[in-house]
Amino acid sequence: MSGRITRRDFAQATLLGTGAVLLDMQAPIAFADEVVQARVGPDWYGYGGVGDYAASHGNTPDLVNAAHSIRDDQQADDPADTIDTGEEYDLVIVGAGMAGLGAAYEYSKRAQSGSRCLIIDNHPVFGGESKRNEFDVDGDWLIGPQGANGFSVPNTREDRESYKDIPDLRYMRELGVPLDFDYGVPQQANGRIRLARDNYGYQYWQEEITSVAHYFRGTGPQGNWVLDPIVNAYRDLPGSEASSRDLFRWRAHEFETPSALDDERWLDTMTYKQFLEDELELAPEVTRWADRIVTGSAGFGCDVISAYGAMRLGLPVRGERREYDSWTRHSFPGGNDGFSRYFVKKFMPRAIRGTDDFDGIMNGGIDFAALDQPGEAMRMRLGATVNRVRHDGPPETAGHVIVSYIQNGTHHRLKAKRVVMACGGWINKYVVHDLPDQHRTAYESFVHAPFLVANVAVRNWRFVERLGTGACMWSDGEFGNSCNIRLPMHTGSYRPQIHPDRPALLTFYVPFYYPGEPAAAQGIAGRWELFSTSYAEFERRIQLQMNELFAATGFDWQSDVAGIVLNRWGHAYMTPQPGFFFSRNSQPTAAEIVARPFGRIAIAHSELEGIQHWGPAADRGKRAIEALFS
Ligand SMILES: Cc1cc2nc3c(=O)[nH]c(=O)nc-3n(C[C@H](O)[C@H](O)[C@H](O)COP(=O)(O)OP(=O)(O)OC[C@H]3O[C@@H](n4cnc5c(N)ncnc54)[C@H](O)[C@@H]3O)c2cc1C
Repeated sequence: MSGRITRRDFAQATLLGTGAVLLDMQAPIAFADEVVQARVGPDWYGYGGVGDYAASHGNTPDLVNAAHSIRDDQQADDPADTIDTGEEYDLVIVGAGMAGLGAAYEYSKRAQSGSRCLIIDNHPVFGGESKRNEFDVDGDWLIGPQGANGFSVPNTREDRESYKDIPDLRYMRELGVPLDFDYGVPQQANGRIRLARDNYGYQYWQEEITSVAHYFRGTGPQGNWVLDPIVNAYRDLPGSEASSRDLFRWRAHEFETPSALDDERWLDTMTYKQFLEDELELAPEVTRWADRIVTGSAGFGCDVISAYGAMRLGLPVRGERREYDSWTRHSFPGGNDGFSRYFVKKFMPRAIRGTDDFDGIMNGGIDFAALDQPGEAMRMRLGATVNRVRHDGPPETAGHVIVSYIQNGTHHRLKAKRVVMACGGWINKYVVHDLPDQHRTAYESFVHAPFLVANVAVRNWRFVERLGTGACMWSDGEFGNSCNIRLPMHTGSYRPQIHPDRPALLTFYVPFYYPGEPAAAQGIAGRWELFSTSYAEFERRIQLQMNELFAATGFDWQSDVAGIVLNRWGHAYMTPQPGFFFSRNSQPTAAEIVARPFGRIAIAHSELEGIQHWGPAADRGKRAIEALFS
């Protein structure tokens, strides 16, 4: 594993050991969550790249196994051999994703001398879905995102001032994150190619300013590519003239705005599919096209998401065009890992080695030993899965919260004066033993979608460049529906060359959705597929997909692929269904109920926003601290 090229070694070592029982399973839509029983191991996890994040890419086997044992073990008490650490904290934060880090940062700003805070996370590295993969391909250092990808910044000084209080810009200013960035210039590539700066903006929001080639299976002997279909109003797409016309009408906002939209809450009474097909009377092909965009940003597709949620994603609901060119989309090389590193550096400066500037924070090594030091005001305990949280009496009068966790297979217990649960409903409803019934009922309307991000390190990307693009999309295939080579941001000493004959990362986005099935069943089936498929099987599917897309332009699997890292997220997104955003009958929404603190515990997670985004996620953490300490 220490060599530069490790994928093939890994595949050979694990192919034989891969449990056939996991390989051939179907994805049964009617199965209950309980079916995901099999314990997973290193052969399932696969190669992790190099550097600090190599052992923490997506859900780890330990995490998956621990989470399933929590789900299956609902006993009220800790096992007899639980170690009481004797620790007592003023605050424990469960979850070191953007919400947990936002809570920790806020607490660190108000903490008084002698106060103590512990952050506990079940991954080996902080960041939650905002982490990176790193590769060393023949000496070239490459960084890609594991999940959360990008952010946008207003272009003008006036807009930066007007929007300075929205969470993204407020945090960037407070943390010292720059607002302007440098990117490399592609060398020796087709000069017309416009590379995307992130890994999914090109699917819709950046479609007009990036090159995107769409592949259609079976429309010719080699399939069929259509480059930048938007330029010719989608007329070059296979399919009926009417569906192309509807697609362009939707994309160009050339339809009449429904009068009921005078009150935008109306949109939250229906799915986006209902809005497109019943209200706008557009062809079902438009829904299928939009599904790829919605699933990439919200998990499930148009048949699940509230039309209001689709509007929040920026998809068309009004017959007037929205301009996108006053904000610029950016992505750090590792996606939003940049923000998680900035947060940690701010409240735990020794955790990231090196200087306190852009280069140091983005590229410094993590000092794991510095994270959990006795005597420090802010501590972080990683690789620890919290399995029980409850007040030590009735929540209204209890003096403490007992927090139990499993680390390296051993059960531990400690005390906290207050707790922020900065993780999602899928785990809170099992872990928080005295969760009020109201909260528990509210969580029933939350549906969570799995997602897979695969970073494929290639020794060259000439086979993509020959298509006249850096980004590709397809509908029917073996693996995912989109992939791209992006224009990497320069972050101090990280300045990879962008040359079609040099190594690069091809990043695949892979949703799991089953249109027409009930949302909860889609989640179960998707997690089944995500968790029961071995690394070797996903590798095989990637090979089939890349051969289908790129063999004709010179792709050679054996010589071109240097490494593959899979980042599996069992509960990547909570897809907001109709009714999520606005209450009916003056009742609070489910998210409003979940966000209400009870006793000494408050819940904060990006899912409470409906559309998950880094700044509001961190702000949820801040609000939980305000509620608990006011
Ligand atoms: C593929 C993908 C692309 C995305 N792209 C973007 C984007 O471009 N821009 C953007 O702003 N956002 C994006 N997001 C959304 C992203 O989810 C949010 O921005 C944000 O990072 C989520 O932070 P969080 O803290 O709410 O949740 P998480 O990141 O999920 O953090 C929760 C943490 O709690 C841990 N945890 C859970 N249970 C326990 C337990 N029992 N014990 C201990 N720890 C536990 C989890 O493992 C995790 O580390 C994307 C998400 C995905 C999946």
